[in-house]
Amino acid sequence: MSKQLLLALSCALALPLANARDNAATAAQANFAATRSHYAQLLAGPAPKVAELTLFTNLLPKGADLHHHYSGAIYAETYLDWAKALGWCIYRASDPALRIEQFKVETKPQALQGAARDACLDVDAVRKDNDLYRGLLTRWSDKDYHNHFHHQPPPDKQFFDTFNYFGPVSGYDYNLALKHLKARAQAENVGYIETMLKGGPGLRDVAAYSPLLDSLGAAATADQVDEALIRAYTYLRNDPATQQLIKEHVEVHEAAAAGVDDATFRLRFQGYASRNSDPSVVFSSLYTSFVAATLRPQLIVGVNIVGPENGIVAMRDYSLHMKMLGFLKRQFPQVKLALHAGELALGMVPPEGLRFHIREAVTVAGAERIGHGIDIAHEDGAVELMAAMRQRPVAVEVNLSSNDFILGVKGEAHPVLLYARHGVPFVLSTDDAGVSRNNLSHEYMLYATRYKPDYAALKRLSYDSLRYSFLPEEVKRDEIARLDARFAEFEARIARLPRAPR
Ligand SMILES: [Zn+2]
Repeated sequence: MSKQLLLALSCALALPLANARDNAATAAQANFAATRSHYAQLLAGPAPKVAELTLFTNLLPKGADLHHHYSGAIYAETYLDWAKALGWCIYRASDPALRIEQFKVETKPQALQGAARDACLDVDAVRKDNDLYRGLLTRWSDKDYHNHFHHQPPPDKQFFDTFNYFGPVSGYDYNLALKHLKARAQAENVGYIETMLKGGPGLRDVAAYSPLLDSLGAAATADQVDEALIRAYTYLRNDPATQQLIKEHVEVHEAAAAGVDDATFRLRFQGYASRNSDPSVVFSSLYTSFVAATLRPQLIVGVNIVGPENGIVAMRDYSLHMKMLGFLKRQFPQVKLALHAGELALGMVPPEGLRFHIREAVTVAGAERIGHGIDIAHEDGAVELMAAMRQRPVAVEVNLSSNDFILGVKGEAHPVLLYARHGVPFVLSTDDAGVSRNNLSHEYMLYATRYKPDYAALKRLSYDSLRYSFLPEEVKRDEIARLDARFAEFEARIARLPRAPR
């Protein structure tokens, strides 16, 4: 075949292809414009059209939920199913003499006798007693906290106490549970979750380092802190029992994740330590989390620190925890950090406690992301800190429902627009959907109705949740391509919706 003929043939073939591409691009632009104008209409007027925005945000493709606690994500109703499957019972009343507490799960009903056995109901009996059942929902979650009077603890205590109620049941079947969470995520068009499944194993009372680490006071010098951390680190690294614990910890995560990922969904883990334990326990739990993330970086993509930040121990040891994280980050620089920091409001702790948590998480620990970041306006050097967060960048995980409930911070008092004004990236996430009884779409709906971003900005938030995820770059590219396709489909669908009557 001559060169000229080949050229003519390829031109003849390329032309219709180019036309088809142009047509598809024009249709995509028209769909985007239709979606943008539909969304603008839902926000226009004296009050946002909440029901229509709820449908819109339910359908909206959401890249990822990056601040997600596994056990807090499961609803109480599901936990009751598992308690039933395990044959466990639930106390219908408290009795200090019997050492039983209403709504607590008993994991060894067969060991109970007499009055204690009578006071412990199986799940079917709980469900039949409507008052008891409704009461349980108010203690295993935030349900009816604000809309119905009942005896209740302060909101932050209410929130964190729920974990003690459903905690024993939460390990029923991790694999089944993650598939349940996946199905829920897919139903609301979420493509990726980074969840905190299990804290790193922590060691208590280790003669070789615990006394030294646990006795460090606030006045300890940098050298004294370093000496204690090096001693603990050296011990843990050379201790076969610790290494075995880490291996088993990784295996739990591997088994939990089996068969969860597919062509439409991904799930990864963050390891974590709880911040209200003795320093030696926190450090060992962080150490095992870092090593687990190093052993299986494709599965455990980061490390966190969790628990009520206004707790007495958490406040006392905050700076020490950041030094521990900074120390471990120097040993394992490839491990990414998403740290709960600044989950505090004025009045919750003295003002001095609001002045340094986010800064130390960023500058001492080296966090890549900050969870909550609510106290930013009270931090020393807040403007410079936000400039540093923009520059690096360090994204903030914004949890609107959780911040409203635990901290009483919402609307114009929430710092999300302050971060935006200073160019600090942020993402929307759920925190504990089962406790808050929300979902990620609801967080987008709250954000849209409160702050009225335009459609392009709302869409960017969905993409940012993938951009600031801890997925490796090549996987991130895959996820973003997947999100492009999901948005094309979504915008085509919205473009076909009946228009609102004028
Ligand atoms: Zn959280």
